[in-house]
Amino acid sequence: MAGVSGVGISWSSSLYRRSSSKPARPSRPSTVVRSAISVERKSLNLQKSEEIFNAAKELMPGGVNSPVRAFKSVGGQPIVFDSAKGSHVWDVDGNKYIDYVLSWGPAIIGHADDEVNAALIEAMNKGTSFGAPCILENMLAEMVISAVPSIEMVRFVNSGTEACMGALRLARAFTGRQKILKFEGCYHGHADPFLVKAGSGVATLGLPDSPGVPKAATADTLTSPYNDIEYVESLFESNEGEIAAVILEPVVGNAGFIVPKPEFLNFLRKITMEEGSLLIFDEVMTGFRVSYGGAQEYFGVTPDLTTLGKIIGGGLPVGAYGGKREIMEMVAPAGPVYQAGTLSGNPLAMTAGIHTLKRLQDPGCYHYLDEITEDLVSGIVEAGTAAGHELCGACIQGMFGFFFSAGPVYNYDDAKKSDIAKFAEFHRGMLEEGVYFAPSQFEAGFTSTAHTSQDIEQTVDAAKKVFKSI
Ligand SMILES: *Cc1c(COP(=O)(O)O)cnc(C)c1O
Repeated sequence: MAGVSGVGISWSSSLYRRSSSKPARPSRPSTVVRSAISVERKSLNLQKSEEIFNAAKELMPGGVNSPVRAFKSVGGQPIVFDSAKGSHVWDVDGNKYIDYVLSWGPAIIGHADDEVNAALIEAMNKGTSFGAPCILENMLAEMVISAVPSIEMVRFVNSGTEACMGALRLARAFTGRQKILKFEGCYHGHADPFLVKAGSGVATLGLPDSPGVPKAATADTLTSPYNDIEYVESLFESNEGEIAAVILEPVVGNAGFIVPKPEFLNFLRKITMEEGSLLIFDEVMTGFRVSYGGAQEYFGVTPDLTTLGKIIGGGLPVGAYGGKREIMEMVAPAGPVYQAGTLSGNPLAMTAGIHTLKRLQDPGCYHYLDEITEDLVSGIVEAGTAAGHELCGACIQGMFGFFFSAGPVYNYDDAKKSDIAKFAEFHRGMLEEGVYFAPSQFEAGFTSTAHTSQDIEQTVDAAKKVFKSI
């Protein structure tokens, strides 16, 4: 497998590009459903959305069940969705959008895929939950184990949050150490020990640390800026023999999109090995997204433990953690580390995962994602720059981001230099043009194999128009 130095992502003309020469542009994978072209839109009527969201605010805190959905950082009200298909979503007022959120990543083959849906209906008719072993668990486990280099054994859970909680408990049990090292702007779900300098909604809402998290729960959490080798070295020196694990997003998607410097992942692999700590890649977002085997395959760096979620549930609630057999066999009931779940390994979630991963086994998928995503990001950056805005962007396969700053962006502090007010204007403008980006500067964007070159062109044309008006 190629080492990090062979990958060659670097900032050039404000855009990370893979410098390796690429084979000719692939055609769209044949498994992909072509979605219809968006209709002409006039102005955005959001009346029903507003009514529903106003009612929701009385029923649920902030009107939502997950904070970033609330549009707090871009202003205005969130849009209430009615349906989704392929690369598009429709709101309750009938407006249609090209979707670059994709349920925050899972919909990598597009929304409501016909094959996945058919498999789900069949599975549903056999029962939605057994609370007992089923063969679908074996099938998805085999697929995950053969895909992800670090995973020899896997435990399925119901969310990325649970996966990270489980991995942390296991790492502490395995090493007999307490402390963990995480990076500023990285998000590992909302479990107490991770809510220190966390990304995603915590970053979007500018929350320092959440009230309700006891000091004791975060006392053993060390933090470092991302991509900062010297800082990590200093933390290992001052906490010698105490660090159970280093956990990170191997490509950051929860502080905006930030790629690791090539030497950073190799360094973390080396220092954790030398110091007897475990290296945990949180690939809840990057798993099956930046390549079939995740960031660890893409960069050729194999961690001890890996957490997964999002794509492996194909749009149903799922998470997983896995790693070396000798570590995983410490998990109950094989070993003493307790972790359980009533709905874990749920037949519907397993089915959606299996059929989504099957579709991703076409190697053309990732090449296709790479091409359209690069077209999208370079198109947006060029349009913004041509209109006189400071803009930089980056992408790896089907994951991307752009910032309203000159870049480069190597850590959360760099990300925060982005002009958030301008991002909010851009976001609103793009909505009016029928393009749905994540409602926060501090979230990555995603493409799917259902996105067409026409979707990308339409998006870049919309961006040209919006950049001129902000
Ligand atoms: C989304 C995400 C999580 C949390 O997953 P949930 O399913 O929302 O609990 C954890 N880590 C990363 C890197 C994520 O992107």
